[in-house]
Parts: sequence; structure tokens; C-alpha cells
Amino acid sequence: MLDNMERGLQVKPERPSTLKMLPTYVRSTPNGTEFGDFLVLDLGGAIFRILKVKLSRASGVEMESEVFEISEEIRTGTGEQLFDHVADCLGRFLQHRNLGKEVLPLGFTFSFPCVQSQLDKSVLISWTKGFRCSGVEGKDVVQLLRNAIQRRGDYKVDVIAIVNDTVGTMMSCGYKDHSCEVGFIVGTGTNVCYMEEMGNMEAVEGDEGTMCINVEWGTLGDDGTLNDIVTEYDSQMDQTSSEPGRQRFDKMISGMYMGEIVRHVLVKLTSQGLLFGGVSTQQLLKKGTFGTKDVSDIENDNFPFEKTKSVLAALGLKPSEQDCVQVKCVCSAVSLRSARLCAAGLSAVASRIKNNRQHYLGRVTVGVDGSVYKTNPKFGEHLNEALRELAPGCQVKFLVSEDGSGKGTAIVTAVAQRLATQRKH
Ligand code: BGC
Ligand code: MG
Repeated sequence: MLDNMERGLQVKPERPSTLKMLPTYVRSTPNGTEFGDFLVLDLGGAIFRILKVKLSRASGVEMESEVFEISEEIRTGTGEQLFDHVADCLGRFLQHRNLGKEVLPLGFTFSFPCVQSQLDKSVLISWTKGFRCSGVEGKDVVQLLRNAIQRRGDYKVDVIAIVNDTVGTMMSCGYKDHSCEVGFIVGTGTNVCYMEEMGNMEAVEGDEGTMCINVEWGTLGDDGTLNDIVTEYDSQMDQTSSEPGRQRFDKMISGMYMGEIVRHVLVKLTSQGLLFGGVSTQQLLKKGTFGTKDVSDIENDNFPFEKTKSVLAALGLKPSEQDCVQVKCVCSAVSLRSARLCAAGLSAVASRIKNNRQHYLGRVTVGVDGSVYKTNPKFGEHLNEALRELAPGCQVKFLVSEDGSGKGTAIVTAVAQRLATQRKH
């Protein structure tokens, strides 16, 4: 991880890095002087959210939000359909709140790997997490959003900034704790961002100060470097995924895949006669029938295993007590591995920050969000335990983002807007 991070910052590394190390054009963590009313779109996980965020001196942060669905059909349709849908939801959101006449500044949390050349220009490299909309890869998604809003013509917004969810999370947590300089997501997908020295970034002009880097660590291992720890279950899951061979680290960690890995293990153990009396069911053999929520529920279940039994019964299985114990072992192993791989990655980020700083205080604060971290109480424990082993010289403190990345994206938008107005005057 460390080696790939280093090479990813170089313009002509001696070997290409599997990590994209994308500059975000976010130059500082919040300092508490960010104010105003903002709209935020949050697209890129299981749900699509629209928020109105008010940052004010008097009352702090006020937010209202609405969740909209992105159907499977839209996730795999055309880019135009996707952005028309987004613009349509935004239109409804504004109408419900009588905001149709105002032109509010908008920040876009777009949780996919993008090459940015400025805060409001962001070219999608490739979709992840099962999104497959045509005609978007290689395009500036801010422009696609603006076009869709223009096609409607019934309201206006000012798209100011586009932000990865890791960056939004770091900024959200940084509003409370100014020492937060890492953003970490482990939900549908996984990723990390951190504040890097400008002097180390060959591709971006200027040597002063810092800039946030979106690591896109999910691609670690896409060149085969993780093959020693990839299991047959990982390979089976990868082969039937929508992007075989890609996002190998992501696939060993995040919520989109964990249930599927467990399912492959259960299928094998059953075929060997070691589970369920050797009798499989249609449902168990079907892709996607075992979710990450199930992994977490079972990992946290105990005798008499009511939760476990009901999850397995939904797959048509009739588990014995012994089956339940074994299924729990499988779930714990897959989830423990996920947490420990995250800890390995985070300890690399922490040690990079440590080596960058002349005056290092011995601690790093990490803003964290994502369904895996938030719904499985054991996950955080495993993570902390592994970090104590892997990064003994560094105290890593987690700050859970209470409100997703919406607030953070609003803060980035506020700063960008302030700088833009200063330039105009
Ligand atoms: C995406 C990242 C994102 C992460 C968490 C990954 O699949 O490539 O951009 O930050 O998921 O949502
Ligand atoms: Mg998200």
C-alpha cells in the first residue's frame, strides 16, 4: 500500500501504481468559518440523497434531507437517464420546499473514481459498485448534471464543487475536530482520503501547503499483488461480479461483496457434507441471496441462534445447532478479514502522514462512515485491535460521521464559493 501510494504521486513512476491517488483540489480541512445555505446531492452507495444544509454561526449545522431510489434499471441504463432522474428528484425536492425560485450553490458527493482538474470538473474513470450507466466514463459528470438541469429548464442551481464521499466524510468530521485529516468509508464500497503535502505531488503545481488525495484504495491488488491472500471464494465472487479482475481490495472488504463471499464458503462446505446435512437449496445456490446485513446479524448472534436460524430459514435451510455455530464462524472470519485489511491500509496511511510531518504529534484522527462500520459493532473493535498491532507508534482515533458526507460537501462548497466571490471582487 505504502509503495503504491508513493508511486501513485509520481508523474513517471518506474512501475505504474495500482492506486490512482487523485488530487481533489480540497486544500484545507474546515476552520469553522464556513457559512451559508447549500444543496448537496449524495450519489454512489445504496441510496441517493438530497440535502439542504444550513451552516450558520448562531445555530451550527441544520440539515433536512430526502432519500430517493435509484432503480437497478437506472443503475445499468444510460447516463442521460441517470442524470435526468437526478435532476427530476432535485426538482421535486426544491418544489416540496418552495425553493424553486432561489439559485442555491450545490455540492455533489459523487462516490466514484474521478480525475479532477478543478473543484467543479471531474471526469469519471470507471464505474464501481454495480453502476454501469453508458456514456459517462471519460466524461465530466458536473457537465452531465448541468446539462440535465438545463434540459428541464424549470429551476436553476449553481454547481460549485464535486467531492468523493471520503472527502465529504473527512470534512464533516473535521468541522468538529480540526485535527481530522483522513476520511475512511467502509459501506457498499471502501476507500480512503488524506491530507498530503503539495511538495510530494508531482502532478499538481505548487509546493506550499497540503491537498486532500483520494487514494481509491479499492484497486490495490488489480495487478495481482494480493494473489497470495486471495481465496477460491474471492475468485468465484470476482468472476461473477460486474467488473471481473477489478477492485480486488474493495471486493475483499466492502459490503457489496461480503455476503457473496460467505455464500460461496457455505455452498462449498455444504457440498462437502459439512453443513446442513450436505443438502443445498436453490436459494443458497443463487447469487446475491446472502446479504452483508446477514453476515453482521449472524456474527453478533449467540445461543439459541434465533437470528441465524431465521436468516438461514429464509434460504430454505434447516440448520442444526452445530450448523449455526459453523455458519457464525464463517461470517466472523470474513468480517474479521475485512476489518484487518482496512487496518492494514489505514496503518499505511497513518505512517505516511507520520513520515510527512516534521512535528508529528503521534496521533491521527480518521473520520469514518459506511454501513459496514456502522451496523456491525464488532467491526470497529477488530479494526482498533488490528491497528494497535500494525501501527503501534501511532494513535488512530475514529470519529463517526453522524450525518454522512452531506455536511462536509457543503463545507467544501462554502469555501469554494467564498474564494470565487473574492476573485470576482
Ligand atoms: C469508489 C470510491 C468510493 C468508495 C466508497 C468505491 O467503490 O471507487 O470512490 O469512495 O467506493 O463509497
Ligand atoms: Mg455514501
